[in-house]
This record gives sequence, structure tokens and C-alpha cells, in this order.
Amino acid sequence: MSEKLIHGHALFRERYFNKKLIRQLAAEGQKPWALYIGCSDSRVVPELLTSSGFGEIFVLRNIANFVPQKAHTDASVGAAIEYAVRHLKVPDIVVCGHYGCGGVKAAVDRLKGLERDTELTEWLQGVLPAVEQARKHGHQGEALWRAAVEENVLDALANLITFDAVSEALDAGKLAIHGWVYDLAHGRVRVFDAEKDAFVDPIGGG
Ligand SMILES: [Zn+2]
Repeated sequence: MSEKLIHGHALFRERYFNKKLIRQLAAEGQKPWALYIGCSDSRVVPELLTSSGFGEIFVLRNIANFVPQKAHTDASVGAAIEYAVRHLKVPDIVVCGHYGCGGVKAAVDRLKGLERDTELTEWLQGVLPAVEQARKHGHQGEALWRAAVEENVLDALANLITFDAVSEALDAGKLAIHGWVYDLAHGRVRVFDAEKDAFVDPIGGG
């Protein structure tokens, strides 16, 4: 299996390594235009979804693209946020969930069957409030799963503001935060529109 990865790396060397940009970035450092927080799911590839190249997005991925509140955070999440906002000074943060998210589904199923997975169980506790919120809206089945994915993104946006680095940058007008949901089946992102209180298609065109 790792041979496939090594072969892929050989292709990378052939195609990209000698490009001037890579050497320039190595020499001059990074100045990404966004912090992207997304799920680890292998089907949701941030650079491909956004046509981003080297040095363009600073990426944090974890199970179910979750951002805990600062008081309950995993240090790796908080560290990535502080570094991206205070040191790289990214102007935007995107939290991108996705329909079909296995982490959110586990939370919808009340973490059944995960008894031996203590770390996973602990992490997914954070997703449970989003599921409860979706249930309160009366959703069931597939619709509940989709609504929980969306609520989980909104929770992440709310929790981002509990980090001083984020709230200070927002107050200073130097940062904007955005909620996205990627639809696996249609290869399309929906963006949260606060005025409409809904995730909408930002591009259109069928
Ligand atoms: Zn996922």
C-alpha cells in the first residue's frame, strides 16, 4: 500500500518539485489567504475543492471538522487557530463540514458501537449538541444527519469566537469567518448566509 504513496510522490517530484514557486515559498515563508478547518475525510480534499496551490491555505483537519470552545479545547486545534490568526494573519477562516460525515453520523447514532474507541468517543462528545439542535428542529433519518452536519459547522463558528485571537481579529475588522458544507454526491459547496439563515449555493449554474 505504501508503494502507491511512494509512486505518487515520484509523480509529485516530476510534476512540481522544480517549480520556481516551491523554492520561493521555501525561502520566503508562507502567507496563506485562509485558515481552512475541515474533516479528515479522504473524500473532502481542501486544496482540490478550492483550486488552491502551495502556500495558499493553512489547513487544520480533524474528525468531523470540530472546533471545541476554548475552555474545552484540544491544544492542537487552539494552536492552529492562534498561529494562523495571530502570526500568519490570515484574513479568513473557513469551517467546511460535509454531508455524509461519518463522525457526525456516529454522534447521530449516540456513539453506539464506539465503546472501545475512547479517544473517538471523547472527541465526538463535542458534536452531540449539534445533533440535539437538529433533533429539536424535528428532523429524522437522512435529514437529521444533514441538519446535524450543518449545525455542527455553526457550532464551530460560534466556538471559534471563544478564542481571544479570533475575537480580537474580528473586532479589529481584520478577520472574517465562514461556514461551508460540501455535498459529496454533487461535488458542490454550500455557504452559510447569515441573512437567510441557510446554506446557499454561492455559484449557481446547475
Ligand atoms: Zn467527516
